[in-house]
Amino acid sequence: MKEDYYEILGVSKDASVAEIKKAYRKKALKYHPDKNPGDAKAEDMFKKSAEAYEVLGNQEKRAKYDRFGHQAFEGGGFGGGGGMNMDDIFSQFGDIFGGGFGGGFSGFGGGFGGGQRRAKGSNLRIRVSLNLEEIANGCEKKIKVKRKVQASGTTYKTCSTCNGTGQVTRVTNTILGRMQTASPCTTCGGSGQMIDKKPEGSDAQGLVMQEETVSIKIPAGVEDGMQLKVSGKGNDAPGNGIPGDLLVAIEEKEHPSLQREGDNLHYDLYISYSEAALGTSREIDTVTGKVRIKIEEGVQSGKILRLRGKGISSINGYGKGDLLVHVNVWTPKTLSREQKDFFERMAEDENFQPNPEKSDKSFFEKVKDMFS
Ligand SMILES: [Zn+2]
Repeated sequence: MKEDYYEILGVSKDASVAEIKKAYRKKALKYHPDKNPGDAKAEDMFKKSAEAYEVLGNQEKRAKYDRFGHQAFEGGGFGGGGGMNMDDIFSQFGDIFGGGFGGGFSGFGGGFGGGQRRAKGSNLRIRVSLNLEEIANGCEKKIKVKRKVQASGTTYKTCSTCNGTGQVTRVTNTILGRMQTASPCTTCGGSGQMIDKKPEGSDAQGLVMQEETVSIKIPAGVEDGMQLKVSGKGNDAPGNGIPGDLLVAIEEKEHPSLQREGDNLHYDLYISYSEAALGTSREIDTVTGKVRIKIEEGVQSGKILRLRGKGISSINGYGKGDLLVHVNVWTPKTLSREQKDFFERMAEDENFQPNPEKSDKSFFEKVKDMFS
């Protein structure tokens, strides 16, 4: 069982924002790694408090936590189990201590903020427009992307400001007394390296713009507005940094005859009076090409024919949706004299009197069926 966030901070469930902030500030100072070097228990408490504050200090997250407990944050995002790293924690501090306290910190385990940081290149964003066939079956798109790459011939030297450590240590006076804090070196951005020589035409970071064809695998079942990530295909970072990501926003093109609803597709089929009475066969669009379907004689307007598995593959990989064909019997809007005579004669005919059987479900019953 995970500990209760309120208990960790030692506040009541109805504590105000100010009380929560104050409580966290106290805990953070008490368990700050600079004050408790090598104390694993303190480190643990420091992280737990930060995690608790991350949730309780945010109105939206707190409301979720109050309703669902720790489950609210499981599987995704931070907090599934001490998911905050030290950088996250220190980025909170600006909020709590009003700046001047943030940045990294020194001499703590070496595994967290200490030492060099690898700079990360910026992310790139593109939109990819897909038709329904591509979405239904998944596809691979080759897209030309302009990204910044390291110019060949760029050489690096050790940063003279931080001597390659990536950090600048300073002593500050805080409410705790003198504390040694370290922050990333601003000269080299924390990488510990500076550009020595770079070729002409490259920017201050030794990067040049280059067009590249990136192959993007689109899984079946994506939806308009979804975002895919292609790792490492954003802009390069200078030096030993890691490249950013390419973020791909999915756009769904409208299909001329198929409408999507989740994994199901809908198709409106219009047939004539005669076809409804005599039966017919018609070719309809599907995401895997045209398909001929049979319409039985005596079909009722509003009937829905379900073509199983002719919909969209589920994005989770669980099966496929269906294609629902809605049969609409088209009523002529104008009639010739002869046609009028015909219908007038048929008006009294017994065969033309509505006589729904149990199998001719009403429209509403069909809709109910479809969603059950
Ligand atoms: Zn530096």
